Amino acid sequence: MSNESIKQVALVGGTHGNELTGIYLLNKYRQFPKLLGKHSFEVELFTANPEAQRANRRYIDRDLNRSFKQADLDDNSLFGHENELAKQINQKLGPKGSSRTDMIIDLHTSTAPMGVNLVLTKTDSFHLMLADYVQQRMDNVSITLEKMLDHHFLMSVAPQHVLVEIGATAQGQLRQDVFDKTEETTQLIFKFLNEYNQHQLPQPSESIDVYQYFDVMFLPTDINGDISGMIHHSIQDQDFTKLRSGQPIFSLFNGEEVLYEGEDCYMSFINEAAYYDEKKAFAMSQKKTFHIG
Ligand SMILES: [Zn+2]
Repeated sequence: MSNESIKQVALVGGTHGNELTGIYLLNKYRQFPKLLGKHSFEVELFTANPEAQRANRRYIDRDLNRSFKQADLDDNSLFGHENELAKQINQKLGPKGSSRTDMIIDLHTSTAPMGVNLVLTKTDSFHLMLADYVQQRMDNVSITLEKMLDHHFLMSVAPQHVLVEIGATAQGQLRQDVFDKTEETTQLIFKFLNEYNQHQLPQPSESIDVYQYFDVMFLPTDINGDISGMIHHSIQDQDFTKLRSGQPIFSLFNGEEVLYEGEDCYMSFINEAAYYDEKKAFAMSQKKTFHIG
């Protein structure tokens, strides 16, 4: 990778149909192509799930951004809208493993106030340098790592990729602050790719802190499987803060508090609205320092 230039970039929005920010940033660039800028690579604007967008839903049958495992792409017995769509997208942008797209930037939003969160799946020097480049040039940027064998994210179709997750905004809503931050992040990534192609990248930081995802906490439920409490007010909006054993995490409808038991960790996507379909409360990560270069 280190000597190969990035020629083909896909800027993807609407992988989740009710995250309007990426969808409308792409529409803006289609309408005013000059605002996209001139670059040393081709940029393809790709709206991933228009059917889900029309329905103002995250997805129709299943989460598109969990549908790109190679095993699932190869499985012809899988049916449903997103399974079909994933195969089509893999043909259009990929195919995974020998992709015609060098880099995918996948634009998402969160209902949690996490600022700018860059999600990586790899910690090679290219991806760490990209994350560092953005973090050094914008406020409130966190880096998350979600490693997986046979990754299920859409962006895993291309060998280089980053998921841009910005919040807080509600689902189905456009907010200027989130929109502007999404555009600023996108343009910084373009700038990084240009400087990378031209071998003009400045010296990166020595190291970078990354939140490595390792587990998810589920909401409390009763014997019928219905939610029996809420995220405790003391951790609401506390994304990327440390959670210690003994700290309250849920406030039950019966008046009790649920305390966290386990190893210290960092929380993100706290009370994310999109997580309620699976009754997830927040994501859990360990903070790790990676040397760059
Ligand atoms: Zn999303």
